[in-house]
Amino acid sequence: MKIETADRLRVLPPYVFARLDELKARAREQGLDLIDLGMGNPDGPAPEPVIEAAKAAFHNPLNHGYPPFEGTGSFRRAITDWYNRRYGVSLDPDREALPLLGSKEGLTHLALAYINPGDTILVPSPAYPPHFRGPLIAGADLYPILLTAEQDWLIDFTKIPDAIAQKAKILYFNYPSNPTAATAPREFFEEAVAFAQKYDIMLVHDLCYAELAFDGYQPTSLLEIPGGKEIGVEFHTLSKTYNMAGWRVGFVVGNSQIVQGLRTLKTNLDYGLFAVLQTAAETALSLPDSYLQEVQTRYRTRRDFLIDGFSKLGWSVPKTRATMYLWVPCPPGLTSTDFALSVLEKTGVVMTPGNAFGAGGEGYVRVSLIADTPRLGEAIARLEQAGIHYHMGGG
Ligand SMILES: *Cc1c(COP(=O)(O)O)cnc(C)c1O
Repeated sequence: MKIETADRLRVLPPYVFARLDELKARAREQGLDLIDLGMGNPDGPAPEPVIEAAKAAFHNPLNHGYPPFEGTGSFRRAITDWYNRRYGVSLDPDREALPLLGSKEGLTHLALAYINPGDTILVPSPAYPPHFRGPLIAGADLYPILLTAEQDWLIDFTKIPDAIAQKAKILYFNYPSNPTAATAPREFFEEAVAFAQKYDIMLVHDLCYAELAFDGYQPTSLLEIPGGKEIGVEFHTLSKTYNMAGWRVGFVVGNSQIVQGLRTLKTNLDYGLFAVLQTAAETALSLPDSYLQEVQTRYRTRRDFLIDGFSKLGWSVPKTRATMYLWVPCPPGLTSTDFALSVLEKTGVVMTPGNAFGAGGEGYVRVSLIADTPRLGEAIARLEQAGIHYHMGGG
């Protein structure tokens, strides 16, 4: 029997992480002590009160059955209360908020709920892979918006051809950004809303790094912008802020019609989030701000330490205002894959090649701040020992 996947799988570009994983496995077999700064996977446990809330919730027999499709009322209220507290945005917990099995799930399913084969979809390059892989699975005709360092990795709306904008159905975007760590000023969000209104485009904004912001910087929510909620939705996650990546809890908020379309698709696919996790997530969202400050201090300290270490090796990496990443240029003449693989082979330090995030990421590697400073110090020491400097060029 000939076994063939559907076309929707065959259109996906090769997964750059696969080759990296292979090399990582081989390095481990050889006994190399890997310092993995490649993933966006926070390195600590969930906060203690969240774990305690989950433990208690396990003992309630009512939590063991199928949960309501659209999440418990109290989790949805916790989400909208949190948006109100953080952004001054008021939302209807019944129609404008939906829990997700992680935001990756929601982002990808939103594409299936709203994109027909051949629809033009605008996605920046580089971008978080689900922002383009979801549309590709849905059969989208992708229009990549090339981002550059010169433009501070912001979308330049004036460069999107009128004919493309006329056809486009959805724009995905993400600030503070993975992988570039770029942040966008409020005026940028106003431009995005004006652009979407002019061309009748749905905005899908990913705000998953909103709490990992430093030096007093406060990220903007699309929903704070007048008109934002009429035209878009915003995705959020507990994975990063609360070290809950393995728990799979995220949510989407915003335009009720868009949210309800996603809900309709999901009622055919899943049964929503385990009630125990919903109770735990409510606890996370109601933690005092001192918890967030602790998280911010942790990542800010690592950021400063690593930027300092890189500068000693000849790299000048601008100070980031948010996220858990540094976006680092490769030495001249090396592709991002060649550079990342050579660093891995010589030092056991894992970085993600920028082209994993689309062609616009070529020439860069992403370094995650997911190790403590002694470990980051060890990474810098190994790079130095292996003679990996910015100005060296070549291998
Ligand atoms: C990590 C990340 C997410 C979170 O995904 P979950 O599925 O909620 O764990 C979403 N968006 C971006 C841009 C990310 O980097």
